[in-house]
Amino acid sequence: MGLSIGIRGAGVAGLSLAHEILQAVPGAEISLFDVRERLPHPARTFCFFDSGVSPLPVEADHSWSRVAFSGPEFSRSLRCDTAPYTLIRGDRFFGAMLREVESRGARCVWGCARVDVQEGGISAGSGTERFDVVVDAAFSPNESRPILWQSFAGMWVEAGEDRFNPNEALLMDLGSSSNESPVSFVYLLPVSARRALIEHTTFSRALQPAPWHLAQCARWAEGAGLTGFSVLETEQGGIPMGLPAPSGGSARAGSGGGALRASTGYAFASIQRQVRAMALEIARGAGRDLAARPMRVFPRWMELGDAVFLRTLARAPEQGSVVMGRFLSRAPERELVSFLSGEAGLWAALKVMACMPKAAMLRTLCWG
Ligand SMILES: Cc1cc2nc3c(=O)[nH]c(=O)nc-3n(C[C@H](O)[C@H](O)[C@H](O)COP(=O)(O)OP(=O)(O)OC[C@H]3O[C@@H](n4cnc5c(N)ncnc54)[C@H](O)[C@@H]3O)c2cc1C
Repeated sequence: MGLSIGIRGAGVAGLSLAHEILQAVPGAEISLFDVRERLPHPARTFCFFDSGVSPLPVEADHSWSRVAFSGPEFSRSLRCDTAPYTLIRGDRFFGAMLREVESRGARCVWGCARVDVQEGGISAGSGTERFDVVVDAAFSPNESRPILWQSFAGMWVEAGEDRFNPNEALLMDLGSSSNESPVSFVYLLPVSARRALIEHTTFSRALQPAPWHLAQCARWAEGAGLTGFSVLETEQGGIPMGLPAPSGGSARAGSGGGALRASTGYAFASIQRQVRAMALEIARGAGRDLAARPMRVFPRWMELGDAVFLRTLARAPEQGSVVMGRFLSRAPERELVSFLSGEAGLWAALKVMACMPKAAMLRTLCWG
């Protein structure tokens, strides 16, 4: 019999972990348990800087070699060809991953009323199933208490004529700050000369209603002279920013296992790195130790820096656009891209952080 592995949660982390284990551990017998139904797939679009450190489990839908940032007082365009900004559609990702892991024998149990993780076992209704290795990859954002929320909704649009530059993604066009939402911006991701995703995002104390975000998208498009397009579909979501460190007990992967970058809300690429490392540990027979020695996804200094950044926004919300505008407009090009991708070394990160308003950050450090 092969090594048996039980995974709670069949989202990005659970499925990616199953995929990695199937590559690294010949004969592994994997079972995944989730409270959601198999379909529909979670509606989301994954974007991230692809540094090529780890191969993607699913081919990208589009990638950009330039990214732009702008605000009321600045506009800049950066090359990112060493880590292209990459988009994978969620439905393609979940569909392809499920097909792959199921075709290789993984068992997925959907629609469980409740799934509990215990040492060496998972119970999902009728009794407890025992496994050699158990990983908790479940995540339920509504149960979290973050420092701020990243709240967003957007629309895939199609123009009747060529309107977009598919080689450059506008990552942030900064808007004004408010007490409720220290940061607010629109991004524009063109996947062809006629088709693009326009999304309005805020870093807010609470999630904002999707219709409000969509109205901001429409207003922004009108201001940018983008009219006469049709809306193909819309998407919405919320990502908790700045979660408490994962508590011990069981091996954890994904957003609940420290893979969600606090300052950006990005998790997709870091989850791929995390689960690959976990699969290698399992392959070398150290799977049971994962619970006792949780895998750190980001260095401690990055977690601390991100927490200070978020707390600064939360304690002085009216300064949000100034804080963001300063470092987006001034940080050196290469360091800014590696900082946003979550793969910056300490020196590169310090160069970026040095561009943030120091007095506001210091006040947070001194008074919390
Ligand atoms: C709309 C949206 C867009 C995003 N876009 C990006 C992006 O562009 N780039 C990026 O890097 N990140 C993005 N993220 C953040 C992050 O990458 C995703 O949330 C990603 O899905 C996180 O993977 P995960 O496995 O941690 O959580 P999920 O993929 O959400 O999987 C968690 C799974 O756990 C299950 N579950 C929950 N509770 C239980 C329980 N008690 N028992 C059993 N199962 C349970 C859920 O049903 C779910 O299937 C986005 C998030 C959202 C919501």
